[in-house]
Amino acid sequence: MSGEQYQSDVLIVGGGLTGLPLALALAQGGLSVTLVDTLDPATATGAGFDGRVSAVAFSSCRMLGQLGVLKHLAGQMQPINDIIVSDGRVREPSSSLFLHFDHTEIGDEPLGHLIENRHLRIALQRAVADEKRITMIAPNVATDIRYGGDVVATLKDGATVKARVCFAADGRNSPTRVAAGIKTVGWDYGQTGIVTTVEHERDHEGVAQEYFLPSGPFAILPMVGRRASLVWTERHDSAKIILALDEDGFNDELRARFGDYLGACRAVGPRWSYPLSLQLARDYVRPRMALIGDAAHAIHPIAGQGLNLGWRDVAAAAEVVIEAARLGQDIGAFDVLERYQQWRRFDNVSLSLLMDAMNRLFSNDIGPLRFTRDLGLGIVNLMGPARRLFMRHAGGSVGELPRLLKGEPI
Ligand SMILES: Cc1cc2nc3c(=O)[nH]c(=O)nc-3n(C[C@H](O)[C@H](O)[C@H](O)COP(=O)(O)OP(=O)(O)OC[C@H]3O[C@@H](n4cnc5c(N)ncnc54)[C@H](O)[C@@H]3O)c2cc1C
Repeated sequence: MSGEQYQSDVLIVGGGLTGLPLALALAQGGLSVTLVDTLDPATATGAGFDGRVSAVAFSSCRMLGQLGVLKHLAGQMQPINDIIVSDGRVREPSSSLFLHFDHTEIGDEPLGHLIENRHLRIALQRAVADEKRITMIAPNVATDIRYGGDVVATLKDGATVKARVCFAADGRNSPTRVAAGIKTVGWDYGQTGIVTTVEHERDHEGVAQEYFLPSGPFAILPMVGRRASLVWTERHDSAKIILALDEDGFNDELRARFGDYLGACRAVGPRWSYPLSLQLARDYVRPRMALIGDAAHAIHPIAGQGLNLGWRDVAAAAEVVIEAARLGQDIGAFDVLERYQQWRRFDNVSLSLLMDAMNRLFSNDIGPLRFTRDLGLGIVNLMGPARRLFMRHAGGSVGELPRLLKGEPI
């Protein structure tokens, strides 16, 4: 048993893709941070841990720049120049009505970048290691957290951490949220996201495809090189069958959906699977405690927005807490944390429900619905202002933006 006693301004439980940048933002604002994660950092960045690639919106990229993370991502970022949204059926050509988002319509910046989660974690961990105000304790678990005049957490090895406030960035099952008695609402989508990497013959030119099939969206996300990452959504039972296919069978199913627009293609590397569900926390804050990222809202990956929402939480929470510290306020006080909740909850809930509605509208083969949604795609494609608004929304540059998302220092 370790009798170690740590003391800092902030405790963050969960050093994943939202916990790490939150630690960086708070530290850059002058606060000391203790970050606890159950996983050994080397395991979390291993090639077999997480095969996903994240679509990182342009506002999120600005934040990564401000936090000193981009310099660790050189050569790992694939710009998203265009996104094509279309509707179809397996082994049939897609509908002639589609929606085309072209980044040049809203400026010089790409719509975002695609970055492998593994490289994001490596880059964030490097930036954290360079920051003197952050103490990372991993692997370890906060087994008991008490909230009173301070936060006092006891870790699995007997160490204790004392802080003014605790952020729970411990993912969709958030043990910290459960222990605090915060309830969630949500439902299972009956869908599994199959994730794998595909090698193809021709250049993708930074074009991402969102292809809606009756079982769910089939996203083709361009990666660095002649590679793409798939988020291939199937009903749970079909996903099980597809995942169990041998290489030839899997590639046959893959090509029936991917088509040949990039020449010959085949899956390379492992197959991952993620059961998809919606889960929204009823509250984000308690005295001395706040939820962040998937702990607060786990959503359908239909438009690659989950992590971007989490990073908007990071930017808002850091700004609120740092401002309170600069004004000499108690950074764990309920009214301070409530400002963060008020700033973020509406955006998170509305976007989650929009993703939910899109998934319901497109994940079926009902004739009249198919006709209406295809017509909708075609009409929006003809409407420049609507197209540009969608792009700004997806890029995370609509509404009252925290400073980090505008590319300004915290
Ligand atoms: C198939 C798929 C594709 C996606 N694609 C995109 C995309 O393109 N763009 C996008 O924006 N989003 C995407 N998302 C969503 C995104 O992956 C999540 O929103 C994001 O990973 C959430 O990060 P997080 O840090 O909040 O949670 P997690 O990634 O779950 O991290 C939680 C961390 O907490 C740690 N932990 C858990 N319990 C404890 C404990 N008791 N004590 C200490 N530590 C603990 C874990 O070890 C982990 O490191 C996708 C999701 C899926 C399923």
